[in-house]
Amino acid sequence: MKIDVLTLFPAMFAGPLDESIIMRARKAGLLDLNIHNLRDWTHDRHKTVDDRPFGGGPGMLLKPEPIFEAVESLARAETKVILLSPSGRKFDQSIARELAQEKDLLLVTGHYEGFDARIREALADDELSIGDYVLTNGALPAMVVIDAVARLLPGVLGDDNSSHDESFSAGLLEYPQYTRPADFRGMKVPDMLLSGNHAEIEKWRREQAQLKTQTNRPDLLP
Ligand code: SAM
Repeated sequence: MKIDVLTLFPAMFAGPLDESIIMRARKAGLLDLNIHNLRDWTHDRHKTVDDRPFGGGPGMLLKPEPIFEAVESLARAETKVILLSPSGRKFDQSIARELAQEKDLLLVTGHYEGFDARIREALADDELSIGDYVLTNGALPAMVVIDAVARLLPGVLGDDNSSHDESFSAGLLEYPQYTRPADFRGMKVPDMLLSGNHAEIEKWRREQAQLKTQTNRPDLLP
């Protein structure tokens, strides 16, 4: 999969996407990630990307010209253009799964008060929010989307089943898991998990997942 990102802060992307599973995916050619500086599509001496909102109000808005030019030069026919914005659809695991089927994503990140509305109306295929809070700019949201999508690409996780058997995949949160030692400071691993009875372990895990979801995220239950 190819992912392009349009940002005012390319340096923010160094680090989080240069480590661990995502870096391995990039090195293996499973993820082709390209970070672009929006100011490269400005034409004035000050590399202006923003201006005051019509009608008044605080802050500055990202102007249409550089973003339209950038998207027009980066996007291909199959590219899905996604705006990161607190007023978008709320990103979740099922949207991550949908996006993992795409060939080519272009993530457009904002700053200041956000975007001139014509960018959403005429340029973007979708508008995504990573949650009901407001961050200073769209770099972290873009990295959240990239990480969540990239780990679903075939071959990225050591065992592709890892992404089928985890929170949200079956509509429930993940059941509690334990590793060695079986007794740590008197805290014992549930006997069931040491029983070797796989059918019973499966049943126990389903019950625990149900219980955890009921406690922490009842909104996920039908
Ligand atoms: N004035 C905007 C509003 O009230 O919706 C907030 C703009 S925010 C300060 C600046 C930029 O950060 C946004 O354009 C967006 O790209 C990004 N951003 C902030 N919070 C976000 C969130 N929860 N999800 C996705 N993007 C977010």
